Amino acid sequence: MDNAWHFYISGVMGTQSQIIQLGYSSPCSLYKGFPMIRLFIVVVFAFFLVSSFSYSQALYGHEMNQFRERVAIPIESKQDIARLVKADIEIDRCSLEEKTVYAYATPEEVKLIEYLGFQATLSPDIIGKNTRENSYHTYEALTAKLKQFAKDYPSIAKLESIGQSVEKRELWILKISDNVEEDEAEPEVKYVSTMHGDEVVGQEMFVYLIQLLLENYGKDAQLTALVNDLEIWIMPNMNPDGTAKKRRYNSQWVDLNRNFPDVQSDINNDPTGRAVETQAMMKFSGSRNFCLSLNFHGGAVVMNYPWDTMAGDPPNVELVRFLCLGYSKRNIPMYKSTSFKDGITNGYDWYEVNSGMQDWNYHWHNCLDLTVEVSQQKWPGADTLPQYWKDNKESLLWSLAQARRGIQGIVKDKVTQKAVEAKIQVSNISKVFTTNKGNGFYNLVLMPGKHTVKFTAPGYEDYILNVLVEDNDVKIYTVNVNMIPQIR
Ligand SMILES: [Zn+2]
Repeated sequence: MDNAWHFYISGVMGTQSQIIQLGYSSPCSLYKGFPMIRLFIVVVFAFFLVSSFSYSQALYGHEMNQFRERVAIPIESKQDIARLVKADIEIDRCSLEEKTVYAYATPEEVKLIEYLGFQATLSPDIIGKNTRENSYHTYEALTAKLKQFAKDYPSIAKLESIGQSVEKRELWILKISDNVEEDEAEPEVKYVSTMHGDEVVGQEMFVYLIQLLLENYGKDAQLTALVNDLEIWIMPNMNPDGTAKKRRYNSQWVDLNRNFPDVQSDINNDPTGRAVETQAMMKFSGSRNFCLSLNFHGGAVVMNYPWDTMAGDPPNVELVRFLCLGYSKRNIPMYKSTSFKDGITNGYDWYEVNSGMQDWNYHWHNCLDLTVEVSQQKWPGADTLPQYWKDNKESLLWSLAQARRGIQGIVKDKVTQKAVEAKIQVSNISKVFTTNKGNGFYNLVLMPGKHTVKFTAPGYEDYILNVLVEDNDVKIYTVNVNMIPQIR
């Protein structure tokens, strides 16, 4: 048999010949701008007497090696930032414009900061006010709302918990897809917010987003297509204990975004000994095959991409930057940033973060995770939320649609037609992708251009596919692959 390998694209039968033109149709017009009031609230606090242990103990009664306050540290240069990172000071954000590093530090660490020749002034984030018209969801209110969504839209929304927080709050995640009870052969995307408990704007953006997708299913063609074509997983709050305490850390003073296996220093992808919230996320993400994700933070307005932990471009940096820029361009305040060119930055270029979730997703699971710093103030007044939604709505929808860019399909045994667990490599992308366990589904988010895709599996001949992705519009093409068993 010579023409043994068959695939089809959009219903067109082909043979083993290797060039596939992926023509694109409907242009994607998602650019809408909204004015925004810049939120820049600078509050000057009295100088914090850093050596005074009694102050903190009397006020909070926490163990001193765990208790952390947010401080502002005046700096002059990037070298100053590097010195603080090297001393293991936990940086919240830094700005060369403001000549300031914001960090979280115990009184002991404040002493270290001073020993290094810097000053540290107490600089807590301001918690915004709720109004009758606008308020943030408490854990209880969020739980009720998510349950109501699942109840009102049972065919496209399913509420799951990936585990519990230290204080036994559920870590809710809402799955949105057609045939939601089934694990379908569709690209998987996840949006996660508020792993830092006091960075809450993202949580509210997700409630808006969920409502938009559910209410418009079957009414709006574009939104319906997203729900039909993808498996969308949305987690409004990964750190509900932190949010309940209005602070960054979980209830055991763990910073969840410093708690994942590190790309450089960890050899194994092992959840043992980490915070329960981190463990839950590791197990959940590891059980699925996400291609793209966003994780929402606050305290700045910028798209931040891997790596955080080391210098240099991540694999497929062209796609990485394209996705960041796509988000930023649709969010006017972000795109017009005076701190970051076009509102995007390489994580390490900004400041080094070790053991973060973004790097972990991409390194260990090939899930391209981007950090969205969504608001300058972490917890702005709730009356600002509608404006944040206007600023982020098109970006969020555009980002979901990108999971349909490239090729997808099922890898099967040519003879038995059973799903094959295959490894997939793409020319010029230094990553090894895999098919889903069980159904043999794969999807590759690809930029325009020529790509050689190689499928390998033990006991099968290699399968090589040459793909030409033609232009920039979003469309995914189905390329099923029949692997030929090796003759022994
Ligand atoms: Zn954060």
